[in-house]
Amino acid sequence: MTPRAEILAIGSELLDPGRSDTNGAYLAFRLGEIGIPVRFRTVVGDVIGDLEEAFRVALGRSDLVVATGGLGPTVDDLTREALASLLDLPLEEDRAVLRQIEERFRRLGLDMPPRNRRQAQVPRGAEVLANRLGTAPGLFLRSGGRIVALLPGVPSEMERMAEEELLPRLRPTGERFVYRIFKIAGLAESEVDRRLEDVARRAGEVAWTILASPGQVEIHLRERVRPGEPAVGIERIDREIEATLGIDLFARDGDTLEGTVGRLLLERGESVAVAESLTGGQIAGRISGVPGASRYFVGGVVCYSDEAKRRLLGVRRETLEIHGAASPEVALEMARGARELLAATWGVSATGFAGPGGGDANRPPGTVVIGVDGPERALHRELRLPGDRETVRARAAQWALDLLRRELTGARPAGPR
Ligand code: ATP
Ligand code: MG
Repeated sequence: MTPRAEILAIGSELLDPGRSDTNGAYLAFRLGEIGIPVRFRTVVGDVIGDLEEAFRVALGRSDLVVATGGLGPTVDDLTREALASLLDLPLEEDRAVLRQIEERFRRLGLDMPPRNRRQAQVPRGAEVLANRLGTAPGLFLRSGGRIVALLPGVPSEMERMAEEELLPRLRPTGERFVYRIFKIAGLAESEVDRRLEDVARRAGEVAWTILASPGQVEIHLRERVRPGEPAVGIERIDREIEATLGIDLFARDGDTLEGTVGRLLLERGESVAVAESLTGGQIAGRISGVPGASRYFVGGVVCYSDEAKRRLLGVRRETLEIHGAASPEVALEMARGARELLAATWGVSATGFAGPGGGDANRPPGTVVIGVDGPERALHRELRLPGDRETVRARAAQWALDLLRRELTGARPAGPR
């Protein structure tokens, strides 16, 4: 039988806007990988009664309860007290743990503050999980056929402890979940859904989710796999998705659009320069955010005003006057200008109206034109992008990178220049 797991994220700050529970997401992912599905994720503030209530409910419906946070030395750290009180277990000072905490402070040249002594309190019968990065040890407890683990709240400490101490204790079945993400640009969610309808229908046991964010659609797959077996379902669906989507699929898993663009440029021994108006440097920011971008990214120009477009990139005054800044003609002169100014193989540009104001009857806010100037041809794409200012700008950068990617995928390599 598959164990049912629940995660308690403990900390009053997690209930307020501004700090979200990333520990829970991490643990759900890691537990999933070893075949333990998470059924509930609960966020609880640092209130002893609420903590007891949350543990009581969790232990009533789940076989495995993993809590993070509230193991620290301060008065608002109440996790171990709440659990001990609920299970009616005495808290006993663990001499070995106390020595480790004292030792840790000594190495830092400090005396242990008296309040840290609380961190050596262990509910009777619990196993201590070592914390190599901080003072708060974790705890692992079996009670009435259930397992409870308490981990620190600091994400780096929690992750290390989960990895080294918790997961190895939970891996009896050897089953795991395998995940794969497919990333698609240039298509609406409904279009992706329609094109992949048959593939999704044949997904069988593989869990299939479609997620959309501005300028990107993702398909998330999850498959339960027995020990030593490959993820045959995911591999089959991978081939089907690739065959169905072709060039519209730009990356898998952690790979990004700018990463794919970089890989294509590297493979071809080519380089790119950018000319940005409404995106204000976002395209350059994304390209240069990829490690190793210096091998193919020459640089970019942020030319917000008409004057900057003229002076920095040589866009002609007549072009601006006759066609306006948000026009294919200007986008193409910008792309050509950046490419020539910076002696790159490719020039990419984005111009348009991010809104909320600006534009005119024919070109309302959200009108964006992307230009790509390459060794063999120049092309542009005129878009009406929905959303507020930030969304339009982010979508414009996404389209610019994607138009370049499509050109790079389709065109013959030009060789370095
Ligand atoms: P410490 O010994 O460091 O006090 P602790 O177990 O008491 O360990 P907390 O005080 O609860 O940990 O949290 C420490 C830090 O980790 C805080 O900055 C907190 O916001 C952050 N944190 C706690 N829980 C989570 C969570 N679920 N997701 C993301 N960050 C978290
Ligand atoms: Mg806390």
